[in-house]
Amino acid sequence: MNTVGRPTRPEAPQGADINDYVHPTLTGARGLLQDEALIFELNAWDKTGVDLPDAPAADDLGDLVRKAPIGLPGLSEPEAVRHYVRLSQKNHAIDLALYPLGSCTMKHNPRLNEKMARLPGFSDIHPLQPQSTVQGAIELMDRLAHWLKTLTGMPAVALSPKAGAHGELCGLLAIRAAHEANGQGHRKTVLAPTSAHGTNPATAAFCGYTVVEIAQTDDGRVDLADLEVKLGDHVAAIMVTNPNTCGLFERDVVEIARLTHAAGAYFYCDGANFNAIVGRVRPGDLGVDAMHINLHKTFSTPHGGGGPGAGPVVLSAALAPFAPTPWVVSREFGFQLVEEAQGPAAQAFGRMSAFHGQMGMFVRAYAYMLSHGADGLRQVAEDAVLNANYIKARLGDLMSPAFPNGPCMHEALFDDAWLEGTGVTTLDFAKAMIDEGFHPMTMYFPLVVHGAMLIEPTETESKQELDRFVTALRALAGAVAKIKNGGGDVDRFKGAPYHAPLKRLDETQAARKPRLRWKPVAAAPLAAE
Ligand SMILES: *Cc1c(COP(=O)(O)O)cnc(C)c1O
Repeated sequence: MNTVGRPTRPEAPQGADINDYVHPTLTGARGLLQDEALIFELNAWDKTGVDLPDAPAADDLGDLVRKAPIGLPGLSEPEAVRHYVRLSQKNHAIDLALYPLGSCTMKHNPRLNEKMARLPGFSDIHPLQPQSTVQGAIELMDRLAHWLKTLTGMPAVALSPKAGAHGELCGLLAIRAAHEANGQGHRKTVLAPTSAHGTNPATAAFCGYTVVEIAQTDDGRVDLADLEVKLGDHVAAIMVTNPNTCGLFERDVVEIARLTHAAGAYFYCDGANFNAIVGRVRPGDLGVDAMHINLHKTFSTPHGGGGPGAGPVVLSAALAPFAPTPWVVSREFGFQLVEEAQGPAAQAFGRMSAFHGQMGMFVRAYAYMLSHGADGLRQVAEDAVLNANYIKARLGDLMSPAFPNGPCMHEALFDDAWLEGTGVTTLDFAKAMIDEGFHPMTMYFPLVVHGAMLIEPTETESKQELDRFVTALRALAGAVAKIKNGGGDVDRFKGAPYHAPLKRLDETQAARKPRLRWKPVAAAPLAAE
């Protein structure tokens, strides 16, 4: 327990002596990593870190005069800085080490991006400013749009969606508008493969569509025969991720597009994994009608902690007239945002957000594109795929690749067959990785693979860093092998993490019953009485 009664070290696993694992400390600190309470628990009520002028007399405020202190913790500057630095050290960060989450693309965000995003002409402007005063920013949007259209081979792009999922919504709304305009409004079904990211069916359902699953073949791709059976006059669109969430290229993608169009439906491609093909494949050439691009995955803008992101959507000629406003046009007097639903925007389905999208993310993504150039972006894809295959090759003998035949794209997927009979689960293994200084990979996704472990190293990791990661995982896999052979130490997995500031949290409870209000720890028992 720390000074405010918060537990700071793990319970011993059943039957084990915790001291075998972690010697308790007297202060809750671990080495030079400080224990830290919440800011409200720091006992700093009676002081303030700043000199404020006396409030003016306010006799005429009547009932509005405050009767009790406002209750803000008062930290001096060094205390405030230390508080947040200590908290930051309890978290993992891409600037600290590899972040192998599959389906997330946690890549290094070059500092140059940040420098550009902080230029006053981008960071100190307001979306309601007259357009004549922000021509540079609008031109950047136009150039970003040009790059996105060129890289994807698509004629139009909507920049305003603020995340991948928001982009999916944008794409499906454009598809719905197109069907309605063409007298096809009766189409109420969206097909998505079993391995789809959860946002795909969620978006379709949110748009009022019924979601029907497409089966998957044994080698992790869309089952064409099943797709053909499920297509028909009732289908509005298919949503297929390519490269897919098993880390594999849908090699029948052209045929998928052909079948879909023959049935009168549109092909929505989830482009979250565009970093694996950028500069090498143009989705427009594959028959895609709409695809979101997660700028925060493919083009390096940071997205830890839930945002901000940006999910521009490229659209085919068939869907372009329905794109949401605003978009940028170049006129003889300068760049202009088309915002009114008239003229070329007469069929626009509406807006995705109040203003124009995530300006800071646009700047970062554009800076990343310019600093790599066309050849550099192609190399991004090649290195991302090479790194993932290196992981797959170096771990494939100890862990079980879900699709052992052939190379993978940008992420290596393992199942839990290699853990069978050891009592160690995917979760236990992931938690033991934390003790070794590594953030776990994505677990239990995609759902089609039992006990899935999805590892995406990204192109920004060097061979040295990949080797460090591989060495740690091989050592842990060796510890699993010992258990399999009748010896070994299951508790090192079952009780992990031993060295993290907090142990296994009840994530389900946290999501279902979030405690959003702070209550003093000491007062908790009283409140329960
Ligand atoms: C990340 C991801 C999404 C959702 O993107 P957000 O920006 O998180 O909303 C959708 N599909 C796939 C395959 C993804 O990896």
